[in-house]
Amino acid sequence: MAGRTARLMLLAGAAALASGSQGDREPVYRDCVHRCEERNCSGGALRHFRSRQPIYMSLAGWTCQDDCKYECMWVTVGLYLKEGHRVPQFHGKWPFSRFLFFQEPASAMASFLNGLASLVMLCRYHTSVPASSPMYPTCVAFAWVSLNAWFWSTVFHTKDTDLTEKMDYFCASTVILHSVYLCCVRTVGLQHPAVASAFRALLLLMLTAHVSYLSLVHFDYGYNLAANVAIGLVNVVWWLAWCLRNQRRLPHVRKCMVVVLLLQGLSLLELLDFPPFFWVLDAHAIWHISTIPVHVLFFSFLEDDSLYLLKESEAKFKLD
Ligand SMILES: [Zn+2]
Repeated sequence: MAGRTARLMLLAGAAALASGSQGDREPVYRDCVHRCEERNCSGGALRHFRSRQPIYMSLAGWTCQDDCKYECMWVTVGLYLKEGHRVPQFHGKWPFSRFLFFQEPASAMASFLNGLASLVMLCRYHTSVPASSPMYPTCVAFAWVSLNAWFWSTVFHTKDTDLTEKMDYFCASTVILHSVYLCCVRTVGLQHPAVASAFRALLLLMLTAHVSYLSLVHFDYGYNLAANVAIGLVNVVWWLAWCLRNQRRLPHVRKCMVVVLLLQGLSLLELLDFPPFFWVLDAHAIWHISTIPVHVLFFSFLEDDSLYLLKESEAKFKLD
């Protein structure tokens, strides 16, 4: 037992600073993956692997190397637990039990349900709000940007690759930027359309620079997080300031206020980082699950607000 402990290279603390995670830097894990790939992932062994791999696994892009990493992850986790150590992360993630081809079943399912909620609310918006409402095009565009982001989030949590990870990050940033734009149109743009157009151009420029830097120069997780937090703060402060000013006059604005505050509170869940319950439910998945009703409430606010603006513009038209 002591020999095995010595072979476990425990690098707590310093782990976060170097690249990779504690689990995948573990010699036991590396040896295991190396031997597994040598044994199974070339020549006749690879043909055998492919012949018995379920079709949905190959279609989802699971390779022999992925399977080796998955099996060896559990071997390493087993050793850690047996020796009383804390569960390590591998390649930046906790160990998750795979379900069919879903790498992180709970987060994938929750992302899908967020997307479904956005789609249902978009359909509701289409049926209850006439296209002549001043905010109609901006709200519909926001719903599509959200749907796109939830699609990529579902794909990323189903199978983590370089491309799906980038798409998940970039599309999530697009949602935050579009929410700021939505706020600009609602608070300033209806009276001053030129300001909204100029602001939209600025946001598009920022998004292009952000995506170009991360994909062409260097994928910097710290910078990406800082950029999203900064634009997220602008989003929160702008929406909240507008809500506070208008909540007495427009009761439906309270829905928007609850959404903004809930999203802030729930995002604290992301700071909790614990090994997944039952190897399925981690803080990120719980966060994704918790945002489903928040989307419903936000679209409900957009619907109320669009109907209010329509009534207001019709009243003005009659007066004129
Ligand atoms: Zn996610």
